[in-house]
Amino acid sequence: MIAPKFPKNEHGRQLAVNKYKLLDTLPEESYDNITALMAYICEVPISLVTLLDKDRNFLKSHHGIPFNESPREISFCGHAINSDELITIVEDSREDERFHDNPLVTDYQAIFYAGATLINSDGYKLGTLCVYDTKPRKLKDEQKNALIAMAKQVTNLFEQRYQNLKLIRLKDKLNKRNEALEKFAQVVSHDLKSPLANIISLTELLEDENKGNLNDESQQYLKYLKSSSYSLKSYIDGLLEFYKSDELLKDRNELIIVQDLLKDLIKLTDPNKTVSFYFEGSTKTINTNKSALIQVLVNLVTNAIKYNLKSKVEIKINISEDESKYNLLVEDNGEGIPAEFLDKIFNIFNVVGVEDRHGNIGTGIGLASVKKIIDNLGGEIKVISELKIGSTFFFTIPKTF
Ligand code: ADP
Repeated sequence: MIAPKFPKNEHGRQLAVNKYKLLDTLPEESYDNITALMAYICEVPISLVTLLDKDRNFLKSHHGIPFNESPREISFCGHAINSDELITIVEDSREDERFHDNPLVTDYQAIFYAGATLINSDGYKLGTLCVYDTKPRKLKDEQKNALIAMAKQVTNLFEQRYQNLKLIRLKDKLNKRNEALEKFAQVVSHDLKSPLANIISLTELLEDENKGNLNDESQQYLKYLKSSSYSLKSYIDGLLEFYKSDELLKDRNELIIVQDLLKDLIKLTDPNKTVSFYFEGSTKTINTNKSALIQVLVNLVTNAIKYNLKSKVEIKINISEDESKYNLLVEDNGEGIPAEFLDKIFNIFNVVGVEDRHGNIGTGIGLASVKKIIDNLGGEIKVISELKIGSTFFFTIPKTF
């Protein structure tokens, strides 16, 4: 018997074998289907997908034999990967000096062997797709071609697995980075809150204590200081709300009475009852996460009131349902959103840049929170709008059973 030599590029080849993380994995249907098919096509009892590891031949699929590895020094495949041919054939191993006294031949009657090499995209020969028979024989050209073609399919499966592993690693890395960024933004916003509250109350104190003593210019400076502090406060509040929306989603679903929901909504968004609300739709109850739904509606209705310069603010809310989801609509008669902004306003920090009815330009966080919540609930949100006529936001919440 002649043990197979290690190829010259063995170090790189071993690294290539390792990168697919297939060694010592369990059998998989996709490889087992290929070996079963090859045994049938080549009319032999045994077919294997093999990977040559340091000192063993690992059998990813083993059709016709009960074991999943054998020593590399007695392997036929070790010889096959040293060959320049795409397929290595031993018609009668008893007459081949490399194999005649090999225990696979003497103890297991591995008389006939044909192995097509598994060559990866970097040119490394990882192992083989091979067939064995217990008697000497020949393969037809079609059978050889089938073996070579299916070996390519096996390496395609390896490459697909590698790409999947890469994607999973990348996704994990991105998730971790995302979590770290979210934590950072949360901590920074939280830590800025109390010094900012101090700035606001001290500015107000300064203003009160010096009433009548300040010249116009100083009064203007104080006004700037106050309005800048308030706009910073709404950024920070918005950011905290954005990150808190993940927490909201941990709440359980509950049965919400639509009438009560709408009463709460008015209390939260229009305590002075200046807005004309119109409620439509046949749905009486909604089974979902209440805090999440309230946050979405409060954001949409607050915007509908804020971005509205009409003397009579009108808001229509329609709640209906079908078999699989609730359909909600919030329509206003406000300023409308320019068409080129419609697909941007759900991105964080994106604003149209026009002043609201209080003379402020928004922070662009509210609708990003809304979208995040609806995405996480499994729904969708869309908007249509016409300048000076109004905007309509449609969103869905899937029913959970
Ligand atoms: P913010 O109101 O803090 O800016 P949003 O993310 O809620 O943040 O809104 C983003 C932008 O979309 C707003 O700045 C505003 O220009 C526009 N917008 C949102 N809702 C409406 C609406 N109902 N009518 C008109 N413009 C709106």
